[in-house]
Amino acid sequence: MPFCPRCRSEYRDGFTRCADCALDLVPVLPEVPLAAGWVEVFRGTAVQADVAAAAIEAAGIETLTPDDYAATLGWMAPGTSHSIRVLVRTGEAARAKEILSDDR
Ligand SMILES: [Zn+2]
Repeated sequence: MPFCPRCRSEYRDGFTRCADCALDLVPVLPEVPLAAGWVEVFRGTAVQADVAAAAIEAAGIETLTPDDYAATLGWMAPGTSHSIRVLVRTGEAARAKEILSDDR
């Protein structure tokens, strides 16, 4: 199944272009590049990422999930996708990882 690299919509086989973005579809979605100044501290299923982000934010640390949550859930059953990333600012990575390891 082809995907649009920009809006991450899934198309039926036979389509080659995204109707919304006018971009050529790709067979596999590329990873969303990390935002500058942010670092990945967790990667897992949507549910796991949600729990991890909530734990980090409870400690007052801002989190960012660059992967399109809804789009990912749309084409992969929850619990089987391991591509949702949780990011924090570089300076808070050590603290965030500590919070996550305390949790387990
Ligand atoms: Zn598109």
